[in-house]
Amino acid sequence: MQSESVPALTVRWLITRSRIMGAIGGAIVGALVLLGYALHIDWTWRLSPGVPATHPLTAICLVLLGLGFLPTRGRPRRMRVLARLAVLTALTILLLRFARPLIGTTFLTDITPFGHIVAEQPSGSPIKVGTNAARVLTAIAVSEILRWLRWPAASQAAAFGAIGLVIVALVGYIDGVSTFRGGLAPQTVLAASFLVIATLFATPRHGFLRPLVADSEPGRLARILLGCATPLLVLIGWVMSRSMHFHGLSSVEAQTSLSYQTAAVIILTWVLVTVASTRAERIDRRRRRAEASVLAAASTDALTGLLSRDRMEQLRTPRDSDQRPPIAATLFIDLDRFRAVNEAFGHRIGDDMLVEVARRLRTVAGPHAVGRVGGDEFAIYCVGVSPREAEDMAVAVTAALGIPFKIGERRFHLTASVGVAHSETAPEADLRQAADSAMHVAKRRGGNQAMPFVSLMHSERRSQIELEQDLYEALNHQDELSLVYQPIIRLSDRRLVAVEALARWMHPQMGAIPPNRFIQVAETTGLIVPLGLKLMAAAVRQAALWRVRDHEDAPVINLNISPVQFASGDVISDLVRMLWQADLPTSAMCIEVTEGAFTDEDAIRALREARQAGFTVAMDDFGVGYSSLSQLPRLPLASVKLDRSFVLDATASSGGATMLTAIVQLAHGLGLKVVAEGVEKAEQLALVTRAGCDSVQGFIFARPMRPEEFDTWLAEIKHSAKNPVETTS
Ligand code: C2E
Ligand code: CA
Ligand code: CA
Repeated sequence: MQSESVPALTVRWLITRSRIMGAIGGAIVGALVLLGYALHIDWTWRLSPGVPATHPLTAICLVLLGLGFLPTRGRPRRMRVLARLAVLTALTILLLRFARPLIGTTFLTDITPFGHIVAEQPSGSPIKVGTNAARVLTAIAVSEILRWLRWPAASQAAAFGAIGLVIVALVGYIDGVSTFRGGLAPQTVLAASFLVIATLFATPRHGFLRPLVADSEPGRLARILLGCATPLLVLIGWVMSRSMHFHGLSSVEAQTSLSYQTAAVIILTWVLVTVASTRAERIDRRRRRAEASVLAAASTDALTGLLSRDRMEQLRTPRDSDQRPPIAATLFIDLDRFRAVNEAFGHRIGDDMLVEVARRLRTVAGPHAVGRVGGDEFAIYCVGVSPREAEDMAVAVTAALGIPFKIGERRFHLTASVGVAHSETAPEADLRQAADSAMHVAKRRGGNQAMPFVSLMHSERRSQIELEQDLYEALNHQDELSLVYQPIIRLSDRRLVAVEALARWMHPQMGAIPPNRFIQVAETTGLIVPLGLKLMAAAVRQAALWRVRDHEDAPVINLNISPVQFASGDVISDLVRMLWQADLPTSAMCIEVTEGAFTDEDAIRALREARQAGFTVAMDDFGVGYSSLSQLPRLPLASVKLDRSFVLDATASSGGATMLTAIVQLAHGLGLKVVAEGVEKAEQLALVTRAGCDSVQGFIFARPMRPEEFDTWLAEIKHSAKNPVETTS
């Protein structure tokens, strides 16, 4: 908060208390007048000697007004209602009294607001007031018409005109001076202008008045002016009545009228200042509350209650005025395959999981700032930690998120990739970006791990993003993405039994991009879904062509389907539909899936359905990662494809060969066919044959080929007399 000068403080004090002072003043004046009436004391002698005290009704009005404007903040609702009622009653009575000449009744003749002097005034004829009232009514009507015509500024001006007319008429009426005929008394003009200003505050809804009530410089200035109005008017009234007296103008009437005029203006100003400042305060308060709630909403994430993305941004880029210590380390956390969970189990469960993730993160993070910076992305900003402590925390985060989630009756497994960057180990890097890069490396290495940032990662990450963008483009181009086909040869008769469809991407600038690289990018970005559909359609087209040519001899096409595709839609139905449209049986295709697809019950169900629909299902890359042998019997498999590393191990050691044989026997025991992948050399071929593998896919027979290459290859082996496939080495 800025420091304020003493005068400014004084003015602020006066303003903040103007309402209380107004209320107390009103009550005191009212009580005195009432007392004066009861005890026949002429309190007004100072102002106008010889004039009897004010009428009791007027006094009651004043007291009511005073009570009504007592500060009501923090009081029970009942009190506030009572206060409003008091004001309303007082105003009604006052209005009735002023309306007396209009109504034309004699009943109210002597109960004028400021004593009998009104009854005696020379120009206080009903007609006079009537014409004033007509002017006021006209102004109000004009204002309404302008408002209806949607000219708010003009309408507002007319409304102020009306208010001004009311004031002038009232003051003139009390004054006993014909304000329109004889010219305006300076005090009247002053009163009118002050009241108009006050009215400005009383109608702050209008756009062009808004700045006045806002917590702005002009708004404050106007309020200060208003706060000064009361004492100023008293002073002016007093000076003027004195000067009239000294200039020989002083008849009892003149002085009295001036005094009462002053009193009237003071009270009206009180009322208006009170109304105005109340409204201004209320608007200010409402605005501040709205701002506060907007700020609060913006600074926390609605779902998890963690800090919001915006708030985290603010923390990241501290302003000069901030006294906060600098961020020492940043952890960037991304849930693995959360999108798939969300789509498979629904957003309700996804949301519940996020809430639980947030809870665990907060526990691990302790005093450090935790925020949700994306759908399933979180960040922790640590202050005053060592690189070691930050890395420990990252490991603790993966551990905490690795504990199964229990939502409703179900248990869910979730893992996270965590990147961590420390200002000591990455001094020149943007910590947040560095942690993000490290996280992506963790993700690429299979997720479920924490990865500290090393400066290499930046450029790696950038090329990754570029690749994502280019892949997105490639999906819309005809000829960048295609399929090649690699034969799978049965060992018993060396015949072609199937081909595996493998994706190829010919990047316009970078040339061929290895599928291991772009498939991984496609999986992390979700682009695998459209990419998978595109490749699937190409495979079905190819199968149809071969079927037309070779009929039953056409090779089965093995199609790779990523676990992400299972999680994000009904990939099997898509394939069935495409085959049906091409008039092909489901037996034309074999689905290759990695173990990843078997960690999820829904994917297993989809594969069972695929099996029932007539597809064969092969487990790809068997032996890498943590294949669980015990799982095998319950999976809807027809074959397993042994990873190339198996073949390599088998040639490297005798233990490897024993292992290979054991696995093949086990698979056969379960009724599964075994395909050996990556067989390149004759000795490898001999080894896998000895181990009992059923078929082989490897460079030793053929490399993956474009369809026309494949056709030539096929034609060649068909023309060779015995028709077995020769090894290329
Ligand atoms: P994968 O499914 O295990 O495919 C077999 C990979 O082994 C292919 O690599 C193939 O070219 C290679 N290969 C075959 N025989 C030999 C050999 O004798 N020696 C060696 N060194 N390699 C051999 P490629 O085409 O680079 O594909 C790599 C991986 O990319 C595939 O591994 C698969 O996981 C993925 N992939 C390729 N196409 C697709 C696709 O259309 N969809 C999906 N989801 N993944 C695909
Ligand atoms: Ca494969
Ligand atoms: Ca494989």
